[in-house]
Amino acid sequence: MQRIEHIYINGAFVTPHGSEWFDLFNPATEEVIGQVRLGDADDARLAIAAAKAAFPAFSRTSREQRMAMLQRMEAAMAAREDELFEAIVTEYGAPVSRARWMAAYSHQVIGEAAATLAEYPFERPAGSALVVMKPLGVAGLITPWNSNASFICGKLAAAMAAGCIAVIKPSEMSALQTQIVMEALHEAGLPPGVANIVNGRGDVVGAQISAHPDVAKISFTGSGAVGRAIMRSSADTLKRVTLELGGKSPTIVLDDADLATAVPLAVSAGFMNSGQACIAGTRILVPASRLAECEAAIVEQVRATPAGDPRDPATAIGPMVSARQWQRVQGYIRRGIEEGARVLIGGEGRPDGMTRGWLVKPTVFTDARNDMTIAREEIFGPVLTLIPYRDEAEAIAIANDTPYGLHGYVLTGDSARGARVASQIQAGRVLVNTLTHEPKAPFGGFKQSGIGRENSHYGLEAYLEPQAIVVG
Ligand code: NAD
Repeated sequence: MQRIEHIYINGAFVTPHGSEWFDLFNPATEEVIGQVRLGDADDARLAIAAAKAAFPAFSRTSREQRMAMLQRMEAAMAAREDELFEAIVTEYGAPVSRARWMAAYSHQVIGEAAATLAEYPFERPAGSALVVMKPLGVAGLITPWNSNASFICGKLAAAMAAGCIAVIKPSEMSALQTQIVMEALHEAGLPPGVANIVNGRGDVVGAQISAHPDVAKISFTGSGAVGRAIMRSSADTLKRVTLELGGKSPTIVLDDADLATAVPLAVSAGFMNSGQACIAGTRILVPASRLAECEAAIVEQVRATPAGDPRDPATAIGPMVSARQWQRVQGYIRRGIEEGARVLIGGEGRPDGMTRGWLVKPTVFTDARNDMTIAREEIFGPVLTLIPYRDEAEAIAIANDTPYGLHGYVLTGDSARGARVASQIQAGRVLVNTLTHEPKAPFGGFKQSGIGRENSHYGLEAYLEPQAIVVG
């Protein structure tokens, strides 16, 4: 049993003022594997005060100094990759191939921020003015459990590249990963107060950070409900906010698609990260003329995508992160059946033969309409909805008939046609015939999937404010 007792403030590991101990679970066994001591509002205030004090000196550091810090952070996180991989499998239940990607991405994303910083023009002329991009100040960074370490690293690296200071509220359910990041940041020898980390509950520590007048910026990744609450509490002090929220992304299988390649991509997009991915393609839109053929190919592919022990290399889908999340997903499967959709494969309960672990049967609904709950709400589990369309125009209309706009996928035999369809989907990113992540491109949502962008210079500018200086 690991006990995580410290938070990280002003360059030191400190015992929090908060005294609540929170259980950490292994979702594959349902066993308690550790405990984390949670900070409280006092701890958040201390971290914000440390950050505020560190900001003036840090904001004056040179590009080269900050690049050197980012490079040390990247190296320190890379040295911890195996340890982080273990923590991700144990505490989150990600299948090993996914966990390896997540562990590696946690240091790669810091390298990406350093590369952006190397080239970014902080000063540029505008008429008779000189425009200087200035760091915003103290940034509150709040992360979810579905990729906690990489979100901490990505947000922190972008904030630091801009010259901002961070107070981080990680997911309380991911404390093993957070501990590894804290130790790596300490080893990287950052100036005290530049990166502060307070484990704690969202409605306590997170709420304090998002309301505090000394915090200039919030970057949040998580649910829409919490994103809205953060925006409301940020409004009083007019904080800048970046919100990366949920999705109900469409995968359009065009009528010219070769199902032998399209269906494996569609199923992988839907079940990505065990279905606990904001970018999962959870609505699969298929031509009505090929519905039966698509259904057969999908059933075959889902059978080849087993849910099980995340440590088994054959496992494609791991357990849900918590009992609560498992129940939530089961509730959506029930709701889909009640609303008249047909279970093509899967259904309620654990996969056959599984007696423990928060595992869900990989489930696909068919005979579904886009107005059903399973097609409108983010389920955040391995549950997909197949929706037939008559022609390309209707496919695009269904794809866009959602309050969300994070991601989209187009699968086709004709890439040019795919790109043309992609450009009509209202989403921050659309992938055509690929699932490859492009870290150099902006990431974020249209509509209710969020506000602002992360990654590349778009992500850096989320921590900067332009100042125009005109000398007469
Ligand atoms: P969540 O919104 O419940 O929690 C996210 C974080 O916010 C946690 O650290 C939590 O403690 C904190 N929080 C909770 N209440 C708060 C409050 N009142 N004030 C401030 N902070 C508070 O989300 P989750 O369940 O951890 O993650 C799943 C959600 O995240 C899904 O909706 C998913 O789509 C979304 N997500 C989005 C992206 C993206 O980039 N768009 C990426 C990953 C996950």
